[in-house]
Amino acid sequence: MFRVGLTGGIGSGKSTASGLFAQQGVPVIDADAIAREVVAPGQPALEAIRQAFGAAAIGADGTLDRAWLRTRVFAAPDERQRLEELLHPLIRDAIRDRVRRLTAPYVIIAIPLLVEKGWRSEVDRVLVIDAPVEQQIARTASRDQMQTEDVMRILAAQGSREERLAAADDVLCNEGDLNALRERVTLLHQRYLRLAGQR
Ligand code: ADP
Repeated sequence: MFRVGLTGGIGSGKSTASGLFAQQGVPVIDADAIAREVVAPGQPALEAIRQAFGAAAIGADGTLDRAWLRTRVFAAPDERQRLEELLHPLIRDAIRDRVRRLTAPYVIIAIPLLVEKGWRSEVDRVLVIDAPVEQQIARTASRDQMQTEDVMRILAAQGSREERLAAADDVLCNEGDLNALRERVTLLHQRYLRLAGQR
């Protein structure tokens, strides 16, 4: 299976582009959704988190207390790393498993922090959705009803646009309207079908 990793900064248009690939019939695996699934009650990750971070990590309803955990690791890079080391292999295996069960010429795997968190080896090609920073901020602020400053804080915690572009095999410039985006997705879809067929 030919695997295309789709990434980009917040508000660049990853979800929108993923949706357009899905409309072309391409299976899309969302790493964020998988990350939520692996910590669901009954999954081994939840027990591992409880052992590493204590019972306070789990709420009264038995689900992971994400807000608590986020606050706990926010200011503690070593704890954040511990959490990532615990979750990363589980997410990776879940993605591999899902890919294995697919039948399609190629698959899109949407991974927001693909470049930052070392997911390159899990994909055959990197597609970066790119938009000017001002547009990322405006789109995110309007989508999530956030203040510009809060979006900028999230942006600052992600890798830079330059780092992502340096890791890209393909760049989808999403600075235009939705029609322009749709046209570019269609062209990339044709390219990926070709590349998948050559393997
Ligand atoms: P990401 O998943 O990268 O955070 P989204 O796909 O959610 O970004 O896009 C951010 C916001 O911008 C959404 O509200 C989306 O509808 C809008 N958007 C994305 N691309 C375009 C575009 N080309 N034209 C207009 N709005 C867009």
